[in-house]
Amino acid sequence: MAATCRFSIFRHDAAADEAPRFQQYEVPYTEGLTVLGGLIHIQQRLDGSLAFRYSCRAGVCGSCAMHINGRYRLACETQVADCKLDVAVRPLGHLPIVRDLVVDMGRFWKHYQHIKPYLIPGTPPPAAGEYVQTPDDRARLDVIIDCILCASCYGACTTTAADPEFLGPAALAKANRFLVDSRDAATEERLELVSGDHGVWRCHQIFSCQQVCPKSINPPGSIADLRRAAIRHRLRRRAHPE
Ligand code: SF4
Repeated sequence: MAATCRFSIFRHDAAADEAPRFQQYEVPYTEGLTVLGGLIHIQQRLDGSLAFRYSCRAGVCGSCAMHINGRYRLACETQVADCKLDVAVRPLGHLPIVRDLVVDMGRFWKHYQHIKPYLIPGTPPPAAGEYVQTPDDRARLDVIIDCILCASCYGACTTTAADPEFLGPAALAKANRFLVDSRDAATEERLELVSGDHGVWRCHQIFSCQQVCPKSINPPGSIADLRRAAIRHRLRRRAHPE
């Protein structure tokens, strides 16, 4: 008899349903089947009404982050075998549900935009057209530059659960990424942006964001760096008021 696996999937249409429910599906199992592969099978063969996001299927786009068997992770990188052929799937946490596994990412993007996630150099572009970095300066960006904006850390963050306006791990790690960048000259502006009531001081350093990150990024480490830089910035301003 062909092997099968079981999917238990959170279902909810915010525009039509009174309450969410879990729906069960039996899916044919073949070695190497990922959770995303199972969801695609369900949508294409069993139930076309199931809604979820995905794109690259290779752990690069970050679209398929969801809560799988008790942990936030990428569906495309999660083997059904590692779930013992029994998969329970929920949407990302702390974001409004649009339908089934699709959440409204608007708040996540709002916080991301807030920290100005782009280079702000202090001088016009050089004649050669490039801002040059030394290999050592570039190496300082390693790892923190790898964020794929999947929002797994946002879903796992306990502070975000209590304070929806908290900027969140991904946005703060990205702010640190530009603070560290030798080509960026907006240090003071960036520290002001992350030092408000919903910024770095709200983090409780629980490290759940780091535990779920599929790219091994360490947002609590970045937040600690930002806190130290913000304190130095405030002390400087106190010593030299304008
Ligand atoms: Fe995803 Fe990690 Fe970026 Fe958070 S820091 S959005 S978990 S890649």
